[in-house]
Amino acid sequence: MDLLARPAEDPADSRTYLLNEKTVQRYRSAVTESVTRIGAKIAGTTRPFTGITVDDLTPAVMGVDLDAPLHDAAAALDELEEVYLRDAVYFHHPRYLAHLNCPVVIPALVGEAVLSAVNSSLDTWDQSAGGTLIERRLIDWTAERIGLGEAADGIFTSGGSQSNLQAMLLARDEACRRALTADDAPSPTPSTPFEQEGPPAARRTDVLPRLRILTSECSHFSIRKSATLLGMGAEAVITVPVDEHKRMHTDSLAAELARCHRDGLIPMAVVATAGTTDFGSIDPLPEIAGLCAGYGAWMHVDAAYGCGLLVSRRRALLTGIERADSVTVDYHKSFFQPVSSSAVLVRDRATLQHVTYHADYLNPRRMAEARIPNQVDKSIQTTRRFDALKLWLTLRIMGARAVGELFDDVIDRAAEAWKLLHDDPRFSVVVQPQLSTLVFRYVPGTDQDPELGDRVNLHAREALSASGDAIVAGTVVDGRHHLKFTLLNPETTVEDIATVLDLIAEHAGTFLAGQPRPALSAR
Ligand SMILES: *Cc1c(COP(=O)(O)O)cnc(C)c1O
Repeated sequence: MDLLARPAEDPADSRTYLLNEKTVQRYRSAVTESVTRIGAKIAGTTRPFTGITVDDLTPAVMGVDLDAPLHDAAAALDELEEVYLRDAVYFHHPRYLAHLNCPVVIPALVGEAVLSAVNSSLDTWDQSAGGTLIERRLIDWTAERIGLGEAADGIFTSGGSQSNLQAMLLARDEACRRALTADDAPSPTPSTPFEQEGPPAARRTDVLPRLRILTSECSHFSIRKSATLLGMGAEAVITVPVDEHKRMHTDSLAAELARCHRDGLIPMAVVATAGTTDFGSIDPLPEIAGLCAGYGAWMHVDAAYGCGLLVSRRRALLTGIERADSVTVDYHKSFFQPVSSSAVLVRDRATLQHVTYHADYLNPRRMAEARIPNQVDKSIQTTRRFDALKLWLTLRIMGARAVGELFDDVIDRAAEAWKLLHDDPRFSVVVQPQLSTLVFRYVPGTDQDPELGDRVNLHAREALSASGDAIVAGTVVDGRHHLKFTLLNPETTVEDIATVLDLIAEHAGTFLAGQPRPALSAR
């Protein structure tokens, strides 16, 4: 292709795409057009998914010539219908029951429109002004709901995985700081060993191999990933077994902590989960807090899923979270916010210094001394979206109680659905939920082999997804394939759930009918 042969675009024309005082009309009509179309889309969606395959959708996307612009928003949106909107997965649909994706609240969408148009970047005060203060208020509000105390602080992040990573980074560097200041290790700069930018590398490498993170077998995989990213290796994570309710077994935790102590290892952090991704189980936070205090371990609570309890009538389920050193919250899960919206909170704001680095061009040390609030000092990101605005408008328009009611609704629904599953001989359900997930398995008859059970459940899930009638998730429990409902849509009714169970049984039945008959056993 001869790029040079193309006519140069008129620079005056190019500039009409920039949002400024001269282009407000263009901005308004283009955005209104997109909002109108999405409105029509949402109104007309009858299934969560069309069931399209990767192979069928790929040519449409590959067929678009990215070097031949359409110069027209309406035409581009027409094209988008074909390559994206028609076959997207719609989380607002009541039979979307798969992952921790929520339908979004309208006040947050107002926030989304505002924040991307103004485009504040929250790294420094001089790129954001009021946005910085709004984010800080919301961090304080969340910390207060948790009960972290006067010295608490935190930062918005891109999601639970990043929040967990940052929490583990802080825990690691606190553990290093404490180990190195307690040790008799010679310090190259005795007066100010950690004044800036982490402990000296040579000495830290002595400590790193001794650090351990203890977390339950049901915790999120981002904890293991964080351990690797933080240079400790996956073997630094000690997996603690769970009880029959899929909650961390605290006697086992106590035994592992004692073993670390005996072996000269450093229990850098215990990660409790308040709402495991599969089961919604909440680890025994008060007992874990007691053990952490006893062993001097950092207590992190991963409440990515369970954070909605902070505003629900079930707040008591989180008792003990107030004793955490750090907490992960995903507003984009149980606060009904659009992706991304998450935060990591810490009990002691001084620990955030482990991510404070100064750059002359951005946040020189003198700015911190002048108490200019540069949020980059607390973040592992630099340029950062003003996601906090979505939560702000949500609290200002509908209020926290209304958010909590939505979450309570789905927890109630899960309890009803559990009864349904429990009483249905076609299925076996793993645990009675504390939050809003249900993990279950289609059981094809009493004396069938488990391998066939695996295949039939895998098939039912895929066939259901391919039909587009409903989307459910899958997971593995005790080595066996199970199905999972994650309820986050208050519009999902018990009838919807009953319908989906019938569809699963139907697909399973079709699959079984196509199986060769088991050979008659020779007697
Ligand atoms: C979803 C989830 C995460 C990861 O959060 P992202 O926002 O997807 O990065 C971490 N922990 C738990 C318990 C989760 O459910």
